[in-house]
Amino acid sequence: MAKAPKQPMTLEMVDFGPLESDGVEVAVEHCGVCHSDLSILNNDWGISKHPAVLGHEVVGRITVLGSNAKGLKIGQRVGVGWNSSSCMHCHQCMSGSHNLCPEVEITIVGHRGGFASHIRSHWAWTIPLPDKLNFADAGPLLCGGVTVFSPLSMFAKPTGRVGIIGIGGLGHMAVKFAAAYGCDVTAFTSSEKKFDEARGFGANHVVSTTDSPAIKKLGGSFDLLISTVNVPLDWDTIVGTLAPNGRLHIVGAVVEPIPISAFSLIMQQRNVSGSPAGSPVAIGTMLDFAARHNIAPQTEHFPMSDINEAFARLESGKAHYRIVLDADF
Ligand SMILES: [Zn+2]
Ligand SMILES: [Zn+2]
Repeated sequence: MAKAPKQPMTLEMVDFGPLESDGVEVAVEHCGVCHSDLSILNNDWGISKHPAVLGHEVVGRITVLGSNAKGLKIGQRVGVGWNSSSCMHCHQCMSGSHNLCPEVEITIVGHRGGFASHIRSHWAWTIPLPDKLNFADAGPLLCGGVTVFSPLSMFAKPTGRVGIIGIGGLGHMAVKFAAAYGCDVTAFTSSEKKFDEARGFGANHVVSTTDSPAIKKLGGSFDLLISTVNVPLDWDTIVGTLAPNGRLHIVGAVVEPIPISAFSLIMQQRNVSGSPAGSPVAIGTMLDFAARHNIAPQTEHFPMSDINEAFARLESGKAHYRIVLDADF
């Protein structure tokens, strides 16, 4: 439990109270650590509710089902991601975009997350994991994975040229997904040390994000760029690499505004967009795709009791590429 912003987490006993009829209780086996856990811990976005139990890339087994929970079984292996419930009756929920519901619940804001022995979630947001999946490493797919898979499934074609900006926790999964999808993939990274690794993840080309002349040479070539970074870049040059009708899609939470010239959008009919995580169906589709193509994030494992060490590692930026905590209490 994080009792206050920027404080180390401590082990506490919490009484969940009675399980809601639509609820599911899951015994946590593994939980990925996402950069947004750190942002919520530190209240960087001003939306945190302390005391907080963080963790929103949960893999575990169902221990209790509410009386109204649909389609799940006790003992079934499931995942819970960035969201853990939504209203189930608004226009967005009824049309399958539950992640855009005005009442969608963030798993780690005002709800107890997965750095715990147990977590609860709405049955619709408790996603069965395909048997073929590597469960120990599947956690990061549930937030980071679907966050980059959604724009690919919405906007990419297998014949398209796709650029992934930032090769970190999100970006390395995006390269694997885009390569498996059949796209021609270019990885953009500021770290030359990651060039070979990005090729190993399936990138056909690698470019340095700090090499503006090299980026300029790619002008007019990409159908889709997915930005996973949280730092300002040379956005004008990057938008200039989009082909006519191309799209820059933002999933990295960069706090500074992104300056875009109207003419560069108008004359080439380009688009700029963003999206949050994914709906339950998007998560399920992504998990099936990952199982079929043997896609797993590259992970480092820590016992959950070493959570503060794991967060220090995340904060250092050295995590390679995604940390998973294994429940040990
Ligand atoms: Zn996340
Ligand atoms: Zn809703």
